[in-house]
Amino acid sequence: MRVGIVEDDDGVAGAIADGLAMHRIKSGRMSRGLDILTRHQEFDVVLLDLGLPDVDGIDVLRQLRRVSLVPVVVLTARDDERTIVRTLRSGADDYLVKPARMAELLARIEAIGRRMARSAAAPAPVARTFGDIVVDLGSRSLTIGGEPVQLTTKEFDLLAMLLEEPGAAVSRQQLMDRIWGDAFVAVSRSLDVHMNALRSKLGRSGLIETIRGFGYRWTA
Ligand code: CA
Repeated sequence: MRVGIVEDDDGVAGAIADGLAMHRIKSGRMSRGLDILTRHQEFDVVLLDLGLPDVDGIDVLRQLRRVSLVPVVVLTARDDERTIVRTLRSGADDYLVKPARMAELLARIEAIGRRMARSAAAPAPVARTFGDIVVDLGSRSLTIGGEPVQLTTKEFDLLAMLLEEPGAAVSRQQLMDRIWGDAFVAVSRSLDVHMNALRSKLGRSGLIETIRGFGYRWTA
C-alpha cells in the first residue's frame, strides 16, 4: 500500500511519513493541494489536509472525486461539525482531527486497506450479454450476432468502463483519467474520436447515449 500525504506543514508531513515507514507503509508527500489531482494514481490511500496554501482541501476533494475513487482520509485542525459533515459529503472516506494519534491513523488506514481487499476479492462478471452483443471482459473480445468485431485497446477500454455499471452515467473526465491517465490535458478530442469509432463498430445508434455537458451512458 502506498499513501499520498497532502500536507503543507513539513513537521506534520514528516512525522506521518516516519510513522508509516515504521510500519513498512510507503508514502509520497505533496505540499500543494492541486498536486494530488495529477498524482492520485500513484496512491492507494490519500491523507488530505484542509488548510492548504493553494486551494481549500474541500475543493481539492471535490475535484478529485470527479476523476477518482481513491480512499481519502481528511486530517485537519478544523473540528467543527459543519466542516466534518461537508467534508464527508464531499467524498471523504474518513476524518481525523489534528493532532491525530499515529496509532489511530494507522488503524484507520488499515481498515481502508481491508475494505479494498474485500472488494478486490469479489469476482467480476467476465462476459456480459446484451441481446446479440457479447462482451468478454476476460479475453477482451466483442461479438455481435456471433461475429467477432475487432476493437482497438482504447475502444475496448471505453466499452469496458461503460459496462462497469450499465445504465449509469460515466463522466468524460472519468473516462479520460482512467484510460489516458490524465483528465486535465487536451485528450478530449481523442476521446471523441475513439467514442465515434466504438459507436460505429457497435453498428447501432443509441446504445451509447451522450449526456450533454457530462459524459456517456450504456443504455442496453
Ligand atoms: Ca495545513
